[in-house]
Parts: sequence; C-alpha cells; structure tokens
Amino acid sequence: MQVINPANGSVITTLTEDTAASAAKKYETAKAAQPAWAARSVAERVAILEKFYHSLEADIQSLAATLTSEVGKPLGQSRGEVNGARNRIRFFLDNSEKWLKAETTFETEGLREVISFEPLGVIGNISAWNYPYLVGVNVFVPALIAGNAVLYKPSEFATLTGIEIGKHLHAAGVPAEIFQLVIGGKEAGQALLDLPLDGYFFTGSYATGKFIYEAVAPKMVPCQLELGGKDPLYISADNSNLAKVANAGVEGAFYNNGQSCCAVERIYVHENLYDAYLEKFMEEFDQMIKTGDPTEEGVFIGPLTREAQIQVLEDQVQDALKKGARLLAGGKRMNRPGYYFEPTVLVDVDHTMKVMMDESFGPVIGIQKVGSDDEAVKLMLDTEYGLTSAVYADHEENATPILEKMNSGTVYWNACDRVSPHVPWSGRGHSGIGATLSYLGIRAFTKPKAWHLRK
Ligand code: NAD
Repeated sequence: MQVINPANGSVITTLTEDTAASAAKKYETAKAAQPAWAARSVAERVAILEKFYHSLEADIQSLAATLTSEVGKPLGQSRGEVNGARNRIRFFLDNSEKWLKAETTFETEGLREVISFEPLGVIGNISAWNYPYLVGVNVFVPALIAGNAVLYKPSEFATLTGIEIGKHLHAAGVPAEIFQLVIGGKEAGQALLDLPLDGYFFTGSYATGKFIYEAVAPKMVPCQLELGGKDPLYISADNSNLAKVANAGVEGAFYNNGQSCCAVERIYVHENLYDAYLEKFMEEFDQMIKTGDPTEEGVFIGPLTREAQIQVLEDQVQDALKKGARLLAGGKRMNRPGYYFEPTVLVDVDHTMKVMMDESFGPVIGIQKVGSDDEAVKLMLDTEYGLTSAVYADHEENATPILEKMNSGTVYWNACDRVSPHVPWSGRGHSGIGATLSYLGIRAFTKPKAWHLRK
C-alpha cells in the first residue's frame, strides 16, 4: 500500500497490508491477552493512558508533521488536533473510574441491587482519516480503560498516524497484544468484519457505515457508527453583530478544508440580513482563507486528502450553477500539483441542488435566503443526516425553540463545528447510531451486569 502526500502527489512510503490470516492471528493473541488486561484495576489502566497523554505532548511537533504529510492538514491545525485529542484523553482519565465503578441502585432490607460494567472483550475500531487523533481517541482510549483489547484499523489515508499512535500506546505500557494495528483499506476492514469480535466501532461515511451495520447485525454485538453530516447553520433576524457571525460561519465551513463530519455544510440567512451577511461573509472569507502548502505557517487551506473528492465537488458546483446559483468565489480544481480545490462560496442556492442535499466534505459552502424562522426550520430538517444544527441569534429565547425542533445529536446556539468531551457525540438518521464521549461514551465500551443480592 502506498502512502501519498496529497500536497504534491508524491509517494511517502510503501507499507504491507494485513491479510485475513494476519488479522485473524492478531485477534487470537488479543483474545488470549484481554482477560489479564481486564483483571487490572481501572486506576492502573488510567495510569498507563496518562503516560500516553504526556507522550503525545512531548512528541507533538513530529506527530503533527506526520499527520500533515499524509492528510494535507495545515501544520497548525495538525498540532491543534493533537492538543484537542489530549483534552479528550484528559476527560477520560479524570472521569472513567467514576463511571466504570459498580453502582448500587436499590437497597432494601435483605436485598441489594447493583449494576457492574464489564468490558466487551476484543473490539474493532475502523477509523477515518479526517481527524485520526480525535475520532481515534473517542474509541480506543475509553475502550482500553474499560479493559478491552482493541484491533485498530486506521484509515488507509492516515496509516502513518495510526502507526505513531500504536508506538506511543505501547511505550506508555499498553501491552502489544492489547492494542494492535490492522493495516490496509477496505479489505483489511472486511477482515475485521469476518472475525468474531465483541464490538465494532466505526467512523466514516454513511455508505460504508450501513454496510458494516448490516454485516455486524447477525453477530449480536454492539455496533456504533459515527457517520457524515449535512450540518445547517441559521442566521436569524435577531443578529446585531454580523461580522462575528460571518467569521464563525467561514471558520465552521472551511476549517480542515471542510473535511469535518460537523463542518457547516449549509447556511440559511433571514432575508432581512441576507445581503449584509453575504458582504460580511466575503470580507471574513478574504481575510481568513489562505491556500497553500500545508507545511507553511499561516496557511489555512491545504490540499484535499483524497483526489477523488475533487470530482464530487466539481459536480456539485456545476449542478448548482446550472440550476441558478451564483458563484462568489472558487468553483474549480486549482492549477497546481496536489489535490487542491478552490475554496468555494455559492449563493442563491436551493434544495433542488446537490450542494444543499449531499455531503460535500470539502471547501464548498452554499448560502440560501429564507423568509422566516419556520422556513429555516423546514429546510434545516430537510435532510437524511442528523449530526449537528446551529442557530445564531442575539437572544437565547429566539434560538432554543428552533433548536428544540432539530432532529440532530448536537445543537448549538452561537457556536458551530465544535465537539466537547463533556457531552455525547452522536448522530441520528444517516449520521449514525450510538454515542461516544461523555459518560455515555465511557460506558459504551462495557456491557452492564445486573446483580440481585439477597442476604
Ligand atoms: P469511508 O467510509 O470511506 O472509510 C472509513 C473507514 O472504513 C476506513 O478505515 C476504510 O478503510 C474502511 N472501509 C471502507 N470500506 C469498508 C468495507 N467495505 N468494510 C470495512 N471497512 C471499510 O470514510 P472516510 O472517507 O474515511 O471518512 C469520511 C466520512 O467520515 C465522512 O462522511 C465524514 O462525515 C465521516 N466522519 C464522521 C465523523 C463523526 O464523528 N460522525 C467523524 C469523522 C468523519
């Protein structure tokens, strides 16, 4: 398997992929080792992961450089991702003992009822490339702390980062059998699906997620899916600081080149503010968007990670223009080596256009005018996805009635494109099933046992 630098198309290195046989062998060793890992106390496992937390910080420059080389993320954003991952690890280190402790839920004379939380066993983590640290630690850190063994398949577009993660975990004291890498693409993922694992945790596209959910169903084990989104942001009439709101929208749409599951993918603006908002949006866009080599400091947009996505974006732009949209910026592949696409702003869009219905997962945003909050609600709900929804308004009481109506796992008032370890990360509909982060994302890697204890 070749690892390609998307900034120039060069081959960084060549790796050997796992086969069904090598994955099966890894599973056997993980299965044999897992009971001893589970028998250690939660505190002991937390202490090991604490070392991992510190070693990421010590090595941040080189980890960020590796990440940038294979996914094309600007260096500052790569460092930001490693730090963001450490913030999440901190949450798990500080909170796991509390949420994994057996709990007495009922007690009466002669009878005690208790819930304990047992590890699932050997779990598979099939991961994505866009935030390999963030989406990775959501799974393997709480899974390891809960006493599971993990077969971790990094995305084929972020394998070098996966290898670094493995090295750091092992150096911190996670036994080699307890965290094992399965290297490769679709076939390596399939090898995991063919094994009798005790749980599957997937981050990626809806199409693959659906395939995995169906494949895992007969096994009768937990299967969590963190999938894509078409996340809306609404600028209500109740906004006095359009510069601030426009700045948040540009950042939400274009951070990480728009390759975030919770990137702002559609913007609706109340007609009273539409023209003024577009003006501010383009001012912020011109200030923030600096495209270039991702290793250059100050660059905000690098190449796309996957060349194939360029075709998807071109198709969305052409479709929108054919149906009457206006282009305020960008719209095509950049004339330079590497997988660069011009950051693109389409306005006067509507829901007949692919750009407002299909996940773009790139630097393309559509902005649509609406006549009322009710129309905004209707359009925001017109999607098969349900990851996040955002409303900007000066007054909370103007935002919350809209947010209550949203069918998404996360809602934001005056925020967007944001994840916190203190609340669950979950999608609805085509955005997935199950939750990571928060106490739900600690217990997701356990199976409850109910104890009825009579004296
Ligand atoms: P993808 O579905 O192409 O691949 C994801 C993983 O699945 C990779 O490791 C890949 O090798 C593996 N895979 C592919 N086909 C497989 C198969 N048939 N069997 C088993 N494994 C298989 O997705 P991607 O391009 O890596 O990621 C982008 C998508 O992920 C976007 O839709 C994005 O929104 C979503 N995402 C969601 C979240 C979230 O938290 N909700 C976070 C990050 C990314």
